[in-house]
Amino acid sequence: MEVKGNKIEFNNLLFQILDDNGNLKIEHLLGADAFIIDSRDPDFARYMLKKIRSHHEAEFYLKPIFLINYKESKDPVLSNLHDGILFSYDQLKEASETVKQIFLRTSHLNNQIISSYEAQVIKKVLDYLYTRNSRALKPYIDSRSITGYTFPELSMSFDKDEEFQVFDLLEWADKEGLIWPDFLEKVYLCNNCSSGFLSYREVCPHCNSSNSRAEDLVHHFPCAYVGPLSDFQNSFDTSLTCPKCNKALRHIGVDYDKPSIIHHCNNCDMNFQDVFIKAKCISCEHDTEVQYLKSKNVNVYKLTKKGRAAATNGIVFSNQEVEAIFGTVSMDVLKTMLHYELERIKENPLQKSTLALIHFENIFELYNKIGEKAQKELLEDLAVVLRENIKPTDFMAFESTSTLYLVLINSDVVKAAEMLKDIQAIIENLMKTNFNEFMIKLYTKERPLEAVAKAEFHLRELAKGVFA
Ligand SMILES: [Zn+2]
Ligand SMILES: [Zn+2]
Ligand SMILES: [Zn+2]
Repeated sequence: MEVKGNKIEFNNLLFQILDDNGNLKIEHLLGADAFIIDSRDPDFARYMLKKIRSHHEAEFYLKPIFLINYKESKDPVLSNLHDGILFSYDQLKEASETVKQIFLRTSHLNNQIISSYEAQVIKKVLDYLYTRNSRALKPYIDSRSITGYTFPELSMSFDKDEEFQVFDLLEWADKEGLIWPDFLEKVYLCNNCSSGFLSYREVCPHCNSSNSRAEDLVHHFPCAYVGPLSDFQNSFDTSLTCPKCNKALRHIGVDYDKPSIIHHCNNCDMNFQDVFIKAKCISCEHDTEVQYLKSKNVNVYKLTKKGRAAATNGIVFSNQEVEAIFGTVSMDVLKTMLHYELERIKENPLQKSTLALIHFENIFELYNKIGEKAQKELLEDLAVVLRENIKPTDFMAFESTSTLYLVLINSDVVKAAEMLKDIQAIIENLMKTNFNEFMIKLYTKERPLEAVAKAEFHLRELAKGVFA
């Protein structure tokens, strides 16, 4: 064992100790094989764990992490996202075995390039679970999560106020057949901001005030008077007298009874039988009748066979989100139509058509913020804008939520490039105005259709620029 500052070399592995003395930039830590986080300060340990596990590069988020000076914690992030607790550095031998196991399993992973946002996040979780030999995603009650629940391995990719997206992603993965739900609990969330921190009150149906008192309703049999108990009371003693017939009340069940409760509002002075129950959101102050709260099932998820294989074999996603967007065709249809267009060009060599691609390089930053529903709406809006700027005979398909192919009929590459330039300016402007100055980075490329090559070849050649 060789110690140099905050680095320990052991068994040909470099362990980097992280404590809150150093001013560390995470990118400077790439050389280390594993991290040891000094957890004396649990906030610091949590911060580092989350920073590493939420990193977008597998190189970081899969890194083995050990905790030292750890005190038992209820924080699910702290207690679930490490690879072992060290009581002293004498345990580095066991730790180095764990590191080697994780490295071995990491080398099995399939590094497919995934363009859809949901698929990216879920693949990251599946990869993490695979390298840790784990087969389940468990929820934990967590006051740091806005929904009140956290799935540490998945939630690490989200900020506190984005945690509700975790439910959407799990539903997505369930639909894809990657995970299998086992019901655990139900939660009710604010229908405005998805917060689970709600304050429930009984309120007056007339003025919404929660300043009310409940009173027994008294029914006097001899005269049939019904009224709140206070009508029968006096300020001198505990005896009850009927305000209608002035007789003293004797025995409950004999000459009177209490058929129900009546509420009196101290704010508007109204009496009423049934209260409303409202939930006020502690996060956004929105006040909702409980029947309109969003309910979500909190499930324990087990990985399905498909889910377990996804880490190592890659996944074919069904592209739920880009199917059936008005004005576009599916990728399969585009391929078939492209094939016929190539045949047409073969017959008429003077016809020049162009295949083009638009890739939204940084759109996941935006998807991350706006959620799945708004993402779909955005794609639909984009399709409308694009349709307005191409010819009726042209056609297009979303290959994923970030990549789009266009076939521009009877447009040569020069004309196509001009069209793309115009489209680019329009989209940039649209995103800027609609998404709070968001600067979209667009990659566009065009390629003349030559009848000598097949449709697949053209598509592949065009895609090279995006992922290479
Ligand atoms: Zn709210
Ligand atoms: Zn009476
Ligand atoms: Zn009232």
